[in-house]
Formats: sequence, structure tokens, C-alpha cells
Amino acid sequence: MIVYDLICSAQHRFEGWFPSAEGFVAQKDSGAVTCPVCGDSIVERLPSASRINREVGDRPQQSEVPVNKKALVQALVEYVLANAEDMGAEFAGEARRIHYGEAAARNIRGVASKAEADDLAEEGISVYPLPIPPREGWH
Ligand SMILES: [Zn+2]
Repeated sequence: MIVYDLICSAQHRFEGWFPSAEGFVAQKDSGAVTCPVCGDSIVERLPSASRINREVGDRPQQSEVPVNKKALVQALVEYVLANAEDMGAEFAGEARRIHYGEAAARNIRGVASKAEADDLAEEGISVYPLPIPPREGWH
């Protein structure tokens, strides 16, 4: 998982989370990366991008504090909880409406079955499973 600092054509800066650099390019090219402020799909990566985790073997390890994976996962979960609207069981349907422009573009989260997630992926809708434990009161 990597995070990029992005900017839309209206100069809104925001963060985008992607499974890989290639995933970012593929999503950007398909117009799936949109500004959370204005919905613009013309986004560019800012040079100040920061990586969430180093790719193993990417380059020699430098003498830095080791990446704490558990803390990263926690940070990711908290980011999603803070920035995504909870759709609960309506997640798959709402993700589809957003994808097809029938609902306002925004980050959402919720519950989807494996089959629903697979269907969304086949339609080119980006869905990422998160290790959020089932719990009441995530609102
Ligand atoms: Zn924008």
C-alpha cells in the first residue's frame, strides 16, 4: 500500500491510497482517481509523495526506524474511518452508483461480501479490503 499526494486541476490537494505504483497509474488512466473536493478526475501526483511501506529489495535499507506495520495498518484504518462515509451493507450498491455517476463522488466504506467485491472489481470499481474488525459504533 502506498500513499500519494495528489492535486486536481482545481488545485485541491488530497491523498490517494493505492495498492502499488502501477495501481495508481491504472486507476488514474481509467478516471477512477477523483478529487474528494470537486470530483475532478484530472489529477496529478505531487513530487512530495510519501511511501507508506518500502518495497522489499527496492534499495538497500537505510538506518532508519523500522516501519511498524501494525501502526501503519492502524493509521490506514483510522484514515478510512475519518474520511469515508459508512454505507454499511449498502456499500456495494452505493459504490456502483458513484462509479456510474448516479451518486456524488466520495470515499465510502462498508460491508461487502467476497462475491460483491469481485463483481465490483470486474466493473472496474476499486475496492480494498481493510482489516477493520466488526464492531458496533463506528459512526
Ligand atoms: Zn478538486
